[in-house]
Amino acid sequence: MSDSCCGTTTFEIEQFTTPQQTAPGMAGLPVVVIGAGPVGLAAAAQLTERGIDFLLLEAGEQVAASIAQWGHVRVFSPWKYDIDATARRLLEADGWTAPDPEWLPTGAELINDYLAPLAKLFGDRVRLGAKVTAISRLGYDRVRTTGREQAPFLIRLADGTELRARAIVDASGTYTSPNVLGASGLPAHGEGEVSVDHALPDVLGADRDRYQGRHTLVVGAGHSAATTLLALAELPGTPITWAIRAGDATRTYGGGDADALPARGALGTRLRAHVESGRITLLTGFFTHRVNATGQDIQVISRDPSGHEQSVTVERIVSATGYRPAHSIAAELRLDLDPVLGSTRALAPLIDPNQHSCGTVPPHGVDELAHPEPGYYAVGVKSYGRAPTFLMATGYEQVRSVVAALAGDWQAARDVRLDLPETGVCSSNLVQAQEQRVGLATGISGGLLAAPLPLTTVGAPAESGGSCCG
Ligand SMILES: Cc1cc2nc3c(=O)[nH]c(=O)nc-3n(C[C@H](O)[C@H](O)[C@H](O)COP(=O)(O)OP(=O)(O)OC[C@H]3O[C@@H](n4cnc5c(N)ncnc54)[C@H](O)[C@@H]3O)c2cc1C
Repeated sequence: MSDSCCGTTTFEIEQFTTPQQTAPGMAGLPVVVIGAGPVGLAAAAQLTERGIDFLLLEAGEQVAASIAQWGHVRVFSPWKYDIDATARRLLEADGWTAPDPEWLPTGAELINDYLAPLAKLFGDRVRLGAKVTAISRLGYDRVRTTGREQAPFLIRLADGTELRARAIVDASGTYTSPNVLGASGLPAHGEGEVSVDHALPDVLGADRDRYQGRHTLVVGAGHSAATTLLALAELPGTPITWAIRAGDATRTYGGGDADALPARGALGTRLRAHVESGRITLLTGFFTHRVNATGQDIQVISRDPSGHEQSVTVERIVSATGYRPAHSIAAELRLDLDPVLGSTRALAPLIDPNQHSCGTVPPHGVDELAHPEPGYYAVGVKSYGRAPTFLMATGYEQVRSVVAALAGDWQAARDVRLDLPETGVCSSNLVQAQEQRVGLATGISGGLLAAPLPLTTVGAPAESGGSCCG
């Protein structure tokens, strides 16, 4: 083990990952990348450029299956921060033209204009419908040590197929493992027996009929909750209740004109106006404890730590309580996880949402991402665990560094760089500017309202930290 510059622990990984020292049992085996989201596909681009054999396994029936779930949402970062440099080189060599660098794509545009053409370059090395259910090392459970690093990785898929790999780049994201409704991190009683919609339904588009005229409860205090609430407020005759654990919604409202991210404040100001006008009913101090289905209705009961109960009866529930990484697929590997975030312990202080917004996370790479299990790297949004500050550009630099290490190019692996201005990558003011310019009807902020609400100055400053990227 060694200490990094931040005083945190990193692992000596070099001896296991240079090609010259690849164990005989691993010779000829590919690197397996899990997940064909933007970061998994960027890893594939890096592996291609370095001439390393790989296989990319994607659970969905299309690439970027998780982004497809929020395809109607416009991201905060313009194209210039959304395209990996190596992927761009490969695509341009194939005759692709990059989209307008200043444009803010929707999730669907990210897929159609960038990720799908990129995946096509890799041919049958991308396998769709290939859900990884477990990773181990051939002949080794987590406890057995001697010779462990010489043993190939064993990957089991949902259909029972087993594959071997010399290294694993796990870019499976967190979108498929949302947090529960229950306020203490445990599922609320009865949660598994009622229909709960995940964050960011397409309220004004494909999912409109699910919500129109139905009393909807939105649980959560982040941007996803705010986005869904503003969209629901556009549906006539649709009662809306918003439940948060906090005693007031100051954090979600942000600082209005005083907010460090002006349109984060504007988003909050719109939401606040709806709450104050009575369009949205806000329930504070709401600790979801139990849900009961009663015919078409769902009764949602809160019990706060003092035992005080309150309840609301609704027809739909949207859970916007965030995401957590599913480390269970790697349960037989030796992981060193931060007890709070579930990232590596070396990465945790660099991404702590109490200290950093998306634009202020320092560059990091293979050293911060290494686990005691040589050759296994969780990258992309999964690498951040429960921290909500992840950006695609950060993930691209992660996989550039990891793949350089797998190629034995330690100089490149450790030369980590990230050029993200603190503003201009993750602020919703860009979304508003674009929507005003072209009159977009969808998006994560302003376009959700037919007419912008007037901005007012709000006294309370925004709380530091929190999500800025959805
Ligand atoms: C609404 C929203 C807005 C965002 N806006 C921005 C923004 O403006 N700028 C920015 O930089 N970032 C933004 N982000 C954050 C982040 O960049 C994205 O979440 C990004 O998609 C993360 O990329 P990823 O490749 O790590 O994971 P994902 O995109 O989640 O991809 C993971 C892939 O792995 C697959 N998978 C999952 N489990 C398995 C398995 N067991 N086996 C095989 N495959 C599996 C999934 O199907 C998926 O295709 C936003 C996120 C959200 C939700």
